[in-house]
Amino acid sequence: MSTPPRIAVVGAGPAGLTAAYALSQTGARVEVHEAGPTVGGLSRTLELWNQRVDLGPHRFHTQDARIQALWREVLGNDWGLVRAHPGVFRDGHILHYPLRVTDVVRKVGVLESARCVLSFARQQARPREEVRTFEAWLVRHFGPRVYAQFFRDYNEKFFGVPLRELDADLAGPASKDASLVTTVLNALRAQWDNAKAGAVKEVTQDFPYPVGGTGMVYERMAEAVRAHGGVVHLNSRVEALEVQGRKVMGLRTARGHEPYDYVVSSAPLAPLVAQLPELPGEVREHLRRAKDVLSFRSNVLVYLEVQATGLFPHSWLEMHTPSVRVGRITNFRNWVPQLHGAEPATVLCLEYWCSHEEPLWALPDAELVALAKRELAATGLSRGARVERGHVVRLPRCFPVYRPGYQEVLRPLREHLRGFERLGNIGRGGQFSYNSQDANWRMGLEAADEARAVLGL
Ligand SMILES: Cc1cc2nc3c(=O)[nH]c(=O)nc-3n(C[C@H](O)[C@H](O)[C@H](O)COP(=O)(O)OP(=O)(O)OC[C@H]3O[C@@H](n4cnc5c(N)ncnc54)[C@H](O)[C@@H]3O)c2cc1C
Repeated sequence: MSTPPRIAVVGAGPAGLTAAYALSQTGARVEVHEAGPTVGGLSRTLELWNQRVDLGPHRFHTQDARIQALWREVLGNDWGLVRAHPGVFRDGHILHYPLRVTDVVRKVGVLESARCVLSFARQQARPREEVRTFEAWLVRHFGPRVYAQFFRDYNEKFFGVPLRELDADLAGPASKDASLVTTVLNALRAQWDNAKAGAVKEVTQDFPYPVGGTGMVYERMAEAVRAHGGVVHLNSRVEALEVQGRKVMGLRTARGHEPYDYVVSSAPLAPLVAQLPELPGEVREHLRRAKDVLSFRSNVLVYLEVQATGLFPHSWLEMHTPSVRVGRITNFRNWVPQLHGAEPATVLCLEYWCSHEEPLWALPDAELVALAKRELAATGLSRGARVERGHVVRLPRCFPVYRPGYQEVLRPLREHLRGFERLGNIGRGGQFSYNSQDANWRMGLEAADEARAVLGL
């Protein structure tokens, strides 16, 4: 019998583990190298004060039958439906999200609502010629007044720059049908459906969620890889790919050279390209530009343990109010009961988006916890309850930011990687893609299909 091929997967986040899971079932010897001490990447779950919490809200959604089948295969019955109940916090009010017409009119006021509709109508009568920036896209689709009321402040907190400095691609693939008209029609339709369903049962967008937190799926995938004879190396950062000509032969970690027949990498794109030997001049030039154009935003998560339950019913709140720096608050009490068990306290996660150059990134943990406590009290959301403890998690470079012209740098870097045999390049960082878990599962499955075809598995 011939020896099975050795396949390395770089990164134990959703993209890497999906690929490893699929490949481990083919008879190949799969080894995952993960730089960190745990699996799950940005979708991992932490144990905190006897409760389980994610890195901010992690809602899973997909229409893809292959991904839905994989979800059921990995989790069995260990998932529940969570009521999607996000809210928008502005000027002391919580608006329901997705928007409900009567809710908006009641909280924003009849006059302001009418002004929003008029400004949208005026904008439609005289649309701008070209929509290149994110700001222009939002103004074109929602009108200047709704943009200023509902999009500008929150998104500027998130991206840290005026939205005219960002590419219109940020509107995302589902954006072509979006507009104030469709938003209002959807809101009216939802209200009509809810009215038909009666006061007892409200029609909502529930979503599936693992009973042990989002990271449970990835813990299960890693267990399955091991059960099929594979290995998940934690604290094993891949420092370089080893290539001969255009063929990938293995990789290097702190332990030294490791030979592989195929490598699937979910490591960030620009550092991966930079590790390759004999880079042509134009690729080196794109890499130099990538430092400015393929930029990221980082995230400081401050978890607070509040000695109360029933603070607010939302799964998370987007904090549009400019008077506080916090951008989003997740309430883990409102996900599945298995996360908190019998604990009598609520864990909230307050997100502060920033770049590494901003002083906030380097603030000591104690000051970040004090800031989060002050801001939570200022919003009134803790209802005066005591905050017992705080915990800080820093996520460096976790949100790709699409600056104008970023595709001109991204495309040639991706193409350079595609020129190598026996290499798959996937994932949020690997593709520089502002995407969610399901998109990374799809990339992982497709990379596994490709590796199987090349290796004849
Ligand atoms: C605050 C926040 C909220 C989010 N909310 C949602 C949501 O509601 N729904 C949703 O679907 N998605 C959400 N996402 C996005 C989701 O977390 C990501 O899309 C997903 O985790 C990306 O998977 P990935 O495997 O591509 O990357 P990652 O999760 O980043 O995993 C990559 C892994 O590779 C490892 N790695 C990198 N370089 C190397 C190297 N050289 N050697 C070895 N290992 C390496 C990293 O340590 C990491 O563990 C959210 C993300 C954040 C930050």
